[in-house]
Amino acid sequence: MIDGKEVPNFINGKWSSSSGTEYLSIANPATCEVLANNSLGKMADASSAVQAAAKAFPSWRATPPEERIQYLFKLKQLLEEDFDEIARITTLEHGKTLSESRGELRRGIENVEVACGIPTLMQGYNLEDVAHGIDESMIRQPLGVVAAVTPFNFPSMIPLWFLPYALACGNTFVLKPSERVPLTMKRIFGLIQQLNLPAGVVNLVNGGSEVVDCLLDHPDVKAISFVGSTSVAKKVYERSARNGKRVQCQGGAKNHVVILPDADMSTTTQIISDSAFGCAGQRCLAVSMAVTVGDARETFTQAISEMADSIKVGYGLEEDVQMGPVVSRDSKKRIEKLIEQGASDGAKILLDGRGTEILNYENGHFLNPTILDEVAPENSISQTEIFGPVLSLTHTNTIEQAIEIVSNSPYGNAASIFTRNGAAARKFRYEIPAGNVGINIGVAAPMAYFPFCGWKDSFLGVLHGQGRDAIDFYTEKKVVIERWPLQWSRKF
Ligand code: NAD
Repeated sequence: MIDGKEVPNFINGKWSSSSGTEYLSIANPATCEVLANNSLGKMADASSAVQAAAKAFPSWRATPPEERIQYLFKLKQLLEEDFDEIARITTLEHGKTLSESRGELRRGIENVEVACGIPTLMQGYNLEDVAHGIDESMIRQPLGVVAAVTPFNFPSMIPLWFLPYALACGNTFVLKPSERVPLTMKRIFGLIQQLNLPAGVVNLVNGGSEVVDCLLDHPDVKAISFVGSTSVAKKVYERSARNGKRVQCQGGAKNHVVILPDADMSTTTQIISDSAFGCAGQRCLAVSMAVTVGDARETFTQAISEMADSIKVGYGLEEDVQMGPVVSRDSKKRIEKLIEQGASDGAKILLDGRGTEILNYENGHFLNPTILDEVAPENSISQTEIFGPVLSLTHTNTIEQAIEIVSNSPYGNAASIFTRNGAAARKFRYEIPAGNVGINIGVAAPMAYFPFCGWKDSFLGVLHGQGRDAIDFYTEKKVVIERWPLQWSRKF
């Protein structure tokens, strides 16, 4: 039986209970009210989903792309109609503000829109007469069953980085969302059910690493898309590759911004504050480290401290709140410990967000924005992903020194520069070893029709999520070389 608080799976076109007996309690991070019990699925659940997807593949693959995208047009319409309720659920289970939940859903829907262009995007190319009377063409074919494993911090957007393209390209799909935020996808799969897709084309399996491991090992799963921490990304990459699968793994991050003295300081401060403290810093594109050059040190340090101090922290469902809680008590403790560690390694605490209590929400996992100054390269937190509302500052005299600090990071998800100087901006763009670069932009998040390009420990693989890379990832290329001599044919 599926009661209201259990999180079911969606397999072969039907809701079903997980076979797991271990439950994870899903609580609102602001109020600690229990919202649901997520049963951690077992290998049997993942196997059933893969089996259903494998069975559905031959006829889904043969469904014309033009027909496949009609389901996505309908999905876009249903997502728009249910927009506010999906966003509300994201805020309830994740804690981010309502406008942040709306923002991520909007970015997710953009991927559905782009995937609707598949009849054009999936085309191959050809050339007549590569030799006398011989023609050659490249066609794209779907892979089969593909799976995605996603993190807690964008419950609606990140699954939608993968699902629409996988389907539009003719694959069948299994999603394993984060076990910590299962309710957003439960709601979205309610909409997917209304599409009346053939059974097994899209499947949802809730759970943790046992479900993931089954997907990584299952011979019928041809490709894995993963987004999460770097340590798990490395495991997923190695194990999938060992099993002969195509794999793309987006990992963790430690994003830097460089602020030159000629930057427009009031806009720069606003943008960096939004980037560092939006979603309580739980964003893989959040700025974590600000590197000032020369005179920018004094003006920026003062401006960002004042702005961060003015952010209204509270329950994300309340419209005037600018920053919600972090996702769990464990996260809060981990972040507080890292602040302590940064300070004991020599950083100065300019703004201390620890010990925050919000009236009426005393049990919530709140932290106020925190600013650590003079975080030297030797400070252990300078290379650690904090994934919370903590901005570290470090100061240099030249752009070369700033670029060196950014380049020494093991991560390469995103980096931004703030300046009015075109030559400095070009130098930064040219030299910086990061995949998503912002120039006077705080969160360099690529639109759905561009690839999401992490580098170094932020990405393992070749083809990224979104954009044309998604089409390359979800299709196999086939070259056909043909000779049809006239003399073999009957005269017409
Ligand atoms: P996580 O690595 O803990 O979990 C991600 C997914 O992996 C979840 O579905 C989880 O169930 C699964 N998983 C966890 N441990 C596993 C294991 N041992 N074996 C198999 N599967 C396992 O990440 P999270 O805490 O949910 O998300 C935060 C992390 O995700 C941060 O590091 C953040 O930077 C990263 N992230 C990266 C991007 C990007 O685009 N690069 C985007 C969003 C989040």
